[in-house]
Amino acid sequence: MDAEVLIVGAGPTGLMLANQLGRRGVRTLIIDRHAGPSLQTRALGVQARTLEIYAKLGLVDRALELGKVGTGANIWADGRLMAHVPLGEAGRDVTPYPFILVLGQDDNERIMGDKLRDWGLAVQWNTELAALQQHADRVTATLKQPDGTSREVTAAWVAGCDGAHSAVRELNHIEYRGAPYQHVFFVADTECTGSMVADQVNAYLWRSGFHLFFPMRGKDHWRLVGILPPDLRNKDDVTFDDVIPSLRGEAGSGLSFSACTWFSTYRISHRSAARFRDRRCFLLGDAAHIHSPVGAQGMNTGLQDAYNLAWKLALVTADKADAALLDSYEDERLPVAQRLLDTTDRAFRLVVSDSPVAGLLRTKVVARIASVAMRVESIQKTAFGIISQTAIHYRESPLSESADRLPSGAPQAGDRFPWLKVKLAPTGAVEDLFEALDDARFNLLVIGQPAPPADALEAAGLLRLHAIPVDSANQAALARAGIAAPSHYLLRPDGHVGLCGIRVDVATIMRYLAERLDLLEAART
Ligand SMILES: Cc1cc2nc3c(=O)[nH]c(=O)nc-3n(C[C@H](O)[C@H](O)[C@H](O)COP(=O)(O)OP(=O)(O)OC[C@H]3O[C@@H](n4cnc5c(N)ncnc54)[C@H](O)[C@@H]3O)c2cc1C
Repeated sequence: MDAEVLIVGAGPTGLMLANQLGRRGVRTLIIDRHAGPSLQTRALGVQARTLEIYAKLGLVDRALELGKVGTGANIWADGRLMAHVPLGEAGRDVTPYPFILVLGQDDNERIMGDKLRDWGLAVQWNTELAALQQHADRVTATLKQPDGTSREVTAAWVAGCDGAHSAVRELNHIEYRGAPYQHVFFVADTECTGSMVADQVNAYLWRSGFHLFFPMRGKDHWRLVGILPPDLRNKDDVTFDDVIPSLRGEAGSGLSFSACTWFSTYRISHRSAARFRDRRCFLLGDAAHIHSPVGAQGMNTGLQDAYNLAWKLALVTADKADAALLDSYEDERLPVAQRLLDTTDRAFRLVVSDSPVAGLLRTKVVARIASVAMRVESIQKTAFGIISQTAIHYRESPLSESADRLPSGAPQAGDRFPWLKVKLAPTGAVEDLFEALDDARFNLLVIGQPAPPADALEAAGLLRLHAIPVDSANQAALARAGIAAPSHYLLRPDGHVGLCGIRVDVATIMRYLAERLDLLEAART
């Protein structure tokens, strides 16, 4: 076998998967048909959940150094600031990163690409997947090489991270359901001044569309995304000068541009693959789902597909888990993509619909509702959870189990376990729990009760045990997250709750690991 996993595509999704597999010691081959890394910015918004994953990968400091922290979002209509979402406050207790990081896709790809060296991996550029054949125990892939010749490689598993026109998807005859949007988007890299609130995302709603202003590093540096006014939609060679009148019309006549270094137009679709897996092939990122850029979710969703699949593939390729564990990838990620498609599609139709009623709805009703709603703390928090992707859960997954009924406000099986700052030993200092978690293993959190002997699991390298005492230092943090004492949570390597309950019981944990996760070590113990 040439590799355990062949990753097709070195965009953000493929690079994240390669890093996650590389650091877990999985023999990985990553190819891309392009000659080198993409120089196109495309995605701009890095969400908090992605930054949490970057932190575990050792990339977050570099990302923060290169990007620009967007501390809030503002909705403008009819020249007036209608609503403000203070991301910093809404996410303060939710994540170490209560903001959106404005960092171009090219920079994200560069830092993930550089990181591959740590695991002895490198992208094989100029190498295109041309054909593949699935066998019971392996996949044979035909790769077109830079000199025009072909070679065959075999891998146990193939990850299709090859974007919207995925060859892995097409070669497996998986339907890509959906349709293109009729609107034409533009993106422009500018230096400008105007009514925009500095260091924050500014959305200008207008009768026939919207403009988004993203703050970038540097003085008066803004990246603009919007849709072309209807009269420009069918014009060839649209330039930035063509869109300035509509920008001024909506974002105010005080808007003044001193430079535009890049301008491009593009069309997009909304689609989802009918299946995310065909036997030994998986689809991730844009190969599996593509949506409107409203909400800055696309790239982030692909990165989390990779984080979800990587730990499962690592256990299976190391013969620590049965291949049945891999079924849960589609069980968990397809509904997330479906929900995202529904919401971004609805939001997109509302912000771009050409009908006069929709125009009025957008500038009068939506803006007013947002203005009132965003002053309510609980709504701000809900909005932050959705946009930052910290609220994504797998409650319906076959991997999620509650041994006992926990209070409704407590984290439940399938949830991303909340970020806490707690003491992990009676005499220790307060620590960042996310830093203490080992995302190459399962983490058992035992709260307000004696820790059980978990020697067998710890010895097998599968699990880390963390005992959280309930004392005056920890009480407030646990109460804020709705965590009852006593309770216990078995976290999967990706930080989602697998099993939870009240009194911890080693036999229940072993049964869960053996039966639900098909962990062979647990079944043998
Ligand atoms: C203008 C725009 C703005 C956006 N803004 C945001 C945003 O703010 N936030 C956000 O989260 N998302 C955003 N998105 C979406 C985001 O760009 C995509 O979701 C993201 O690029 C998907 O990454 P990917 O790795 O899955 O696919 P891609 O980035 O498309 O990468 C696929 C890779 O596969 C390679 N490949 C394809 N076929 C083959 C083959 N047969 N053999 C070998 N290699 C192959 C390609 O060369 C490519 O490098 C935006 C998209 C657009 C267009």
